[in-house]
Amino acid sequence: MANDRYEAVIGLEIHAQIRTDSKMFCPCSSDSFNKEPNINTCPVCMGFPGQLPVINEEAVRRGVKASLALHCEVQGFSKFDRKNYFYPDLPKGFQISQYDQPLALNGWLEVEVNGEKKKVRIHRLHLEDDAGKLTHIQNGTLCDYNRSGIALMEIVSEPDMHTAAEAGAYARAMQATLRFVGASDADMEKGMMRFDASVSIRPKGDDKLYPRAEIKNLNSFRSLESAIGYEIERQSALWEEGKPMEKEITVGWTDDKGKTYFLRDKEGADDYRYFPEPDLPPVKVTADFIDQLKKELPELPTEKRVRYMEEFGVSQAEAILLSSDPALASYFDAVVGESGDPKKSATFVSTILMAHLKKNGMEIAESKVQPSALASLIKMVNDGKISMNIAKGEVFEEMFEKGADPENIVREKGLEQVSDASELEKLCQQVIDENSQSLEDYKKGKEQAFFFLVGQAMKKTKGQANAQMVTDILRKALKK
Ligand code: ZN
Ligand code: MN
Repeated sequence: MANDRYEAVIGLEIHAQIRTDSKMFCPCSSDSFNKEPNINTCPVCMGFPGQLPVINEEAVRRGVKASLALHCEVQGFSKFDRKNYFYPDLPKGFQISQYDQPLALNGWLEVEVNGEKKKVRIHRLHLEDDAGKLTHIQNGTLCDYNRSGIALMEIVSEPDMHTAAEAGAYARAMQATLRFVGASDADMEKGMMRFDASVSIRPKGDDKLYPRAEIKNLNSFRSLESAIGYEIERQSALWEEGKPMEKEITVGWTDDKGKTYFLRDKEGADDYRYFPEPDLPPVKVTADFIDQLKKELPELPTEKRVRYMEEFGVSQAEAILLSSDPALASYFDAVVGESGDPKKSATFVSTILMAHLKKNGMEIAESKVQPSALASLIKMVNDGKISMNIAKGEVFEEMFEKGADPENIVREKGLEQVSDASELEKLCQQVIDENSQSLEDYKKGKEQAFFFLVGQAMKKTKGQANAQMVTDILRKALKK
């Protein structure tokens, strides 16, 4: 922020595509990514007159699961309403949403920023259907209704966040939570999760809420944080000039320019003329149903993160990464289970394996390295059979490329660690004899010379010498 006299107040609305095969109110496929335009459509999601929508039960079930994971009170009775507006991406002329009686209310999600934990309150979670996609070209606009009618949940936070980093952490925690409970794949590159961020500024110590700017349709964590950062600076400058915003506005964001731009005055609920959807029954969720889904809830990412840090001693950064995705977390859990070494498992999975996957544009599910193979690699390091450097380098490389077994690789390539004391003593003496200058430097107190000698010994054995033993032997020899 421009200075510390002001405080930002930030709330997020998140739209997430519910993981279902079909759309919210019709049997059309909800798999719309990279599909030929308008192939997943029918009279219901095209808004033809006289068609009757039917509620997708699976969407409700997953909406309830998400609500429970977010500690919300699931409502026994909720209903759908028509939110009326005209736009070419909305063939019905209204969106089916939930207005005054949403599926769930009053939850929270814990986030961790710079080691500080914080609960962000969730105001509500409701179900609705998505609009189509418009592509503006030179002579007109192309309409693709594959997305029209896709099941969405909208999750509205309370304005509990105060920095772009907090909003980013909340958005990431939300993505992880929705993925762990199977409520959404929340893949932003496929448009499955989008953010609207409300930002206002107030003098520090003031607890009033001032008019906000709502930044629409942010579709990556990076744009979310940049856009909020920009808006905080812009509005702080207005306060500095003594003319803060007087009314609520809706703005857009362009990544290229790194700026928000004015779209319109903010619309209110009155503008939409909400009324109950006459073609759909209310949604009734029984206590039994809720209990059953509660039992099905897996360990949530926040719980996993805490367990990794407190029980396993894994670093915070690694714990956040490992708990960010269900496939990654279960992979890591499997490696720990077999290797019995959580710290090395965390390093191998979060750093080495992830870097290789990223470089090759692969998902964890596509990895040829099975958790059991990675666990045996770690055991070989712990048993002193190979050095960590060789494990991380040559052996892992081969495992990643060919899915080969680490024991076979080490045997075939002769990479076993040299831990034979007499052999290593000979090696160290040779290194000392060949580097008399370093020996003198060391005697003059240059510690660097010592590490140079260790490095020479490792180099001579192509990294296969037991580094700890080499260090000890050299220390002893040089003391003489
Ligand atoms: Zn349809
Ligand atoms: Mn919405």
